[in-house]
Formats: sequence, C-alpha cells, structure tokens
Amino acid sequence: MVTCDVCKKNKAVYLRTYSGHRLCPRCLERILARPVKRVIGESGLLRPNSRIALVVRPSSPAFSLAGLRLVAKVESKFNVKIIVIIPSQLEGMEQVNETLEVASRRTVVEKVKREFPAVKGDELSMIACVRLERAWGLTLARELGAEALLYPLDRTTSNLLALEALLEGDPEGLSEALPALPWTEPPTIHYLHRVEAEALTAYAFIDEAWVDPLCTPALPSKIPFLSLMGSRPELEFSSTKTLERLAINLSEKWNKCPYCGGFARSKGACSYCKSLGVPRLLENTAK
Ligand SMILES: [Zn+2]
Ligand SMILES: [Zn+2]
Repeated sequence: MVTCDVCKKNKAVYLRTYSGHRLCPRCLERILARPVKRVIGESGLLRPNSRIALVVRPSSPAFSLAGLRLVAKVESKFNVKIIVIIPSQLEGMEQVNETLEVASRRTVVEKVKREFPAVKGDELSMIACVRLERAWGLTLARELGAEALLYPLDRTTSNLLALEALLEGDPEGLSEALPALPWTEPPTIHYLHRVEAEALTAYAFIDEAWVDPLCTPALPSKIPFLSLMGSRPELEFSSTKTLERLAINLSEKWNKCPYCGGFARSKGACSYCKSLGVPRLLENTAK
C-alpha cells in the first residue's frame, strides 16, 4: 500500500502533479479546501449568515459540485446559506442529490432548478460559455436575493482563457484571470481560482460525484498552453499571478459588461454577450 505523504496513515489515491504529493481522499480535500477559503476570505465579500448563490456550470457540473463540497467544508463556521442553482436540463441528478446531502451536513443548502438558455453549447467558445453561464447565474442570484455569486472557475480554465485573450490580442477576456468581480450585482467570487483542474477532476472522481457536461465548448489555446506547460505544472501556478496582475491593472480602465461582469470594449454588453444575444436569452430567466 502506498501511504499518504501528508497524514502518513491512509492509503494514497492521487498523485498531485503540482506538488508531487501522494494523497489520501481526506488530505486531498483538506488541501483543496485551503485555497478556496483563502480566495473567499481575500475577496472580503462574504459575511456570516449571508445567503449566497452557487451556480452549477452546464459546461463543467462535476467541478461545480466538487466546488460546492469544498465551500460547504470551509464555510460551515460562517453559517451561510448556499442556494445551488442547477440547470434543469442536466442529467445525472442522483449524484447531485448525494453531494447536496453531504454538503448539507456541513451547512444550509437549498437547490433551485432553472432552465439554462438554449444555445448550441458545442459551438460556443469557452469564454462565451463562461460569460453566458455567469450572466445567467447573476440574474438568478439577484432574483433569489443572494448576497454573492460563487462561480466555479478553476485555475486551469482561468489561465487558459486569459492566455487566449492575450494570444488573440483581445483584453476583454483577461477579466477571467481575476479571483473576484466585486462590481457585479451581487458580487462574483471565482472561488476555485487557486485550484487546478487536474486536482478537481481527481476529487470529483474519488467522491463519485461525476456528472457529464451539457456542452463542451472549444478552447483553442489549450494545445499551445499544454505544450508550454509540459510536465512542469508550476508554470501554471506562476502564470496565475502574472495574468491576475495584468487583469488587475486593466480592471480600472476597462468597462464592465452589465450582464456577465467581464471586461467590455465599450459601455454596455461585452462583445460575447452581444454576439450571443445574452440580454434576450436572459429575458426568460428573470421572473
Ligand atoms: Zn492523508
Ligand atoms: Zn458580457
């Protein structure tokens, strides 16, 4: 048996590429919960006893549910109420219910099912998809009276989107490198901002909370990024800081989209929300 490098007791089930640690399920959870707590804490946007909305992303429900468990773990002492927004078209709800139950043991969880706007997800770019999901989540969070929106954007996706924005010479996409968007109504926290996709995938699998996505948006920068990164995951970690700093510098100068909260070239909707017709798509979401 390979034992866990952290507790030196339990059986290790996952090798974290970033740190080289062999981890048992419990230590993996503890290690992933720490950066979640830090991002939420640093945002300064969450108060004790607040109602917060957590959106299950149609394009990555498994990460969203893994994220829910992590939030429930770190936020139980805050006594927050988590409203989980679930796209009603999502299949595999048994796992969702189980995850909700586990999360509920730690904190108060309520679930709300709503239809996700019908767009052909497979034809979307990842950035357009992220913006539509967040705009949808923000609309529902407002309607449900939530004081913050937790949007599960993991470190890997956030880096890829920001890198893509730079490669395309389109700074609009750099807002995805930010850990929080305090200007949205309610404020948005990208609470998985410091957790890499690989570890989240492992966590979701180990917890058997895997749900297939509704859509798989295109991410053109993935291949150049992975070729840069190779077997050196620390590059992913150092680029987070660089991209985040670039985005923070830009955030004072750029307009913010009133729908998705991302950077926008001009006042009003960003180019992604404009081309998707987000204002029209969300008319049916808002009651
Ligand atoms: Zn352990
Ligand atoms: Zn937008």
